[in-house]
Amino acid sequence: MKLDATDLRYVTGEEFRVLTAVEMGSKNHEVVPTSLIAQISGLRNGGVNKIIGSLAKRKLVAKVQNSKYDGYRLTYGGYDFLAMRALSKRDSMHSVGNQIGVGKESDIHIVADSEGREMVLKLHRLGRISFRTIKQNRDYLGKRKSASWMYMSRLAAQKEWAFMKVLHEHGFPVPIPIDQARHCILMEFIDAYPLRQIADIPSPGKLYSSLMDIIVRFARAGLIHGDFNEFNILIRRETGEPVVIDFPQMVSTSHENAEWYFNRDVECITTFFRRRFKYESALYPKFRRTLTDEEGGEDFRLDVVVAASGFSRKDMKILEEYMDEVKEVEVEPPGDDESSESSEGENDLREEEVGLSLKREVIDITNVNGPAPSRSRSISPTAS
Ligand code: ADP
Ligand code: MG
Repeated sequence: MKLDATDLRYVTGEEFRVLTAVEMGSKNHEVVPTSLIAQISGLRNGGVNKIIGSLAKRKLVAKVQNSKYDGYRLTYGGYDFLAMRALSKRDSMHSVGNQIGVGKESDIHIVADSEGREMVLKLHRLGRISFRTIKQNRDYLGKRKSASWMYMSRLAAQKEWAFMKVLHEHGFPVPIPIDQARHCILMEFIDAYPLRQIADIPSPGKLYSSLMDIIVRFARAGLIHGDFNEFNILIRRETGEPVVIDFPQMVSTSHENAEWYFNRDVECITTFFRRRFKYESALYPKFRRTLTDEEGGEDFRLDVVVAASGFSRKDMKILEEYMDEVKEVEVEPPGDDESSESSEGENDLREEEVGLSLKREVIDITNVNGPAPSRSRSISPTAS
């Protein structure tokens, strides 16, 4: 899906008010009636109609014909706009560049601040999986059923943000978190290759140990990554050091299936190293030993720190249940009328094919100081 930075500059104050009104109205209306939009925005009906027409033309909102009434809903584009506007108002970001990744549930863009410093903007897209295909057990959403894609995407971003912050503060090798708004996270750009793309390394044993060491450090701090694989481990181009990304599925070591998650993370690494580097080791971390080991035990529990930081256990639970449900479900675009605005075929991408859109070739980092991957730097300003 296209992230249109030009729109950020050409949205007027009144348009912004109307867009915000649609967002507010969608908290309890799946389709927000035009009269409600007028009421919330404080503009007269006639004025609203014109503005909403122009927003719809630019696909920031979409018209929906309901059985009971006609109205509008916010699109991904509209939600992206609101988030980016918030970030640029706070001077966290200034311009949008290329998309470098498309995941099943996120889009990744290079963006920059006003000094041209590059960062990564991750937009969570949990609604890519249609909520209609999810089995009807959605009680945990309560009244929020109607706003579920926005709500879930925002929860995922808040969770990722909360974890990235505490991990960074406690010295884990993760990108520096910069800012968060709605369903978006702004973080440090890591000049790196995903482990997935690396064909050969000078000493696989060394990388293997440092990755297992990260798993152990996570666990001693009360956490399990939950998706610790070659897609979510970046290898710094300059130094060959690993950086871990992608935290929406992190779980506490007190989770009922903690050991299973832990073992799966460990196995992802053992399997990948065996297949890719023909490297096997008799040494790998074991869950119980890791937790009971006196030596090296941390005196902080990051799962507790996160819960205290504002991302509550209840939020965790809601997101987890959603993620469990969608795991089973085929990917399809969210709205009736949204398929035209998300780029063709995007929803068919599986994980192996995504996140690597710029550098699909497998890279040998035996020479880690080799030339930088060519990355076009076309960056256009967002807001004035
Ligand atoms: P998803 O949830 O869709 O898997 P990820 O957070 O794993 O999203 O990011 C997808 C891809 O985007 C990564 O595999 C990586 O190539 C790229 N990426 C994500 N964050 C960064 C970052 N901070 N610096 C550089 N590249 C990144
Ligand atoms: Mg990922």
